[in-house]
Amino acid sequence: MTADPVAIARDLIRCRSVTPEEGGAIAYLQGVLAKAGFTVHRTTFAEPGTAPIENLYARIGDRQPNLVFAGHTDVVPPGDEAVWRHPPFGGEVAGDNLYGRGAVDMKGGIACFVAAALDYLNANGGRSTQGSISLLITGDEESVAVNGTVKLLRWVAERGEKFDHCILGEPSNVAVLGDTIKAGRRGSLNGTLIVTGRQGHVAYPDRADNPIRGLITLISALQAPLDEGSEHFDPSHLEFTSIDVGNPTVNLIPGEARARFNIRYNDRHSQTALKTLIEHRAQTAAAGRVHHAFEWQPSNADVFVTEPGSFTDLAVAAIAEVTGHKPKFSTTGGTSDARFIKDYCPVLEFGLVGQTMHQVDECAPVADLIKLTAIYRRIIEKYFG
Ligand SMILES: [Zn+2]
Repeated sequence: MTADPVAIARDLIRCRSVTPEEGGAIAYLQGVLAKAGFTVHRTTFAEPGTAPIENLYARIGDRQPNLVFAGHTDVVPPGDEAVWRHPPFGGEVAGDNLYGRGAVDMKGGIACFVAAALDYLNANGGRSTQGSISLLITGDEESVAVNGTVKLLRWVAERGEKFDHCILGEPSNVAVLGDTIKAGRRGSLNGTLIVTGRQGHVAYPDRADNPIRGLITLISALQAPLDEGSEHFDPSHLEFTSIDVGNPTVNLIPGEARARFNIRYNDRHSQTALKTLIEHRAQTAAAGRVHHAFEWQPSNADVFVTEPGSFTDLAVAAIAEVTGHKPKFSTTGGTSDARFIKDYCPVLEFGLVGQTMHQVDECAPVADLIKLTAIYRRIIEKYFG
């Protein structure tokens, strides 16, 4: 059984798996993993209003602990393919790099883990006797993420299977391989502030009540800091993303004004407490004079942190042995599927360097693919050792 991460990554890149298309990527992994002795399940999840998505769960071994690697084979669209110097679905190696959409986010990461697992099995008579190795792979991460990891986790749990620890192979490193492990993520909450006034003629403002004035007052009040950060997190942050009146008329005071905002919040808040805090601040600023209301969008992106312990120690040691770097723990950036996995087992995120993800000519250094494979290989070894 070959275990060449560059070849596996190249083959995956050649699958046009732009969400929601499977593009042959899941089928390819099924082939490789089944050949190595994994029990492979493919499940398609669907719900009204969304595209059906193919997912894969593969496991070798029937004992605990069950170390699971999670990832996604879907990629964002390439945009104008003509501006790529190397075709986005070509998987070309040029100079020191492997090029293509998904090279770092995150077909490269999947390829490295598969190569590491195959190498480990090879060295152990083709079996996993000390526990189990699993792969939890979705085709629905880059888009709405409703028919992916969240449902796949439930599906595996309903089979009575348990995970002990998870590595999510998203590109976690900032500048060089080994600089960063993600051990938690901020929460994300979207809301709309709606101020109602009284519509009227712009020449007779005394007969109207312009909601834009009130909206400005409340927006200013909501810019105040939410906290000073916590042990593992930067300060929470509220950012207004749009102010909408939608008034095409030059001589009309509008009746309503809206502002949309997003909050990235740390572990000093729960969603409920955060909503209460925001509503209270607005109420204070309104002082009974600004008629307003909030609409909150449902959010499945809660804050979480993976506390340092034996599992994170083991990953840090493996990374240091291969790269010479001692990674720092970070909770920055957007949300990821780790927000779903954390309800099942501790999860840390470690993959390639994120610099070119989602860009034209996305690429991963071949040397990094080889090093990341060595890191995953050592993690597996230490985990079962
Ligand atoms: Zn990703």
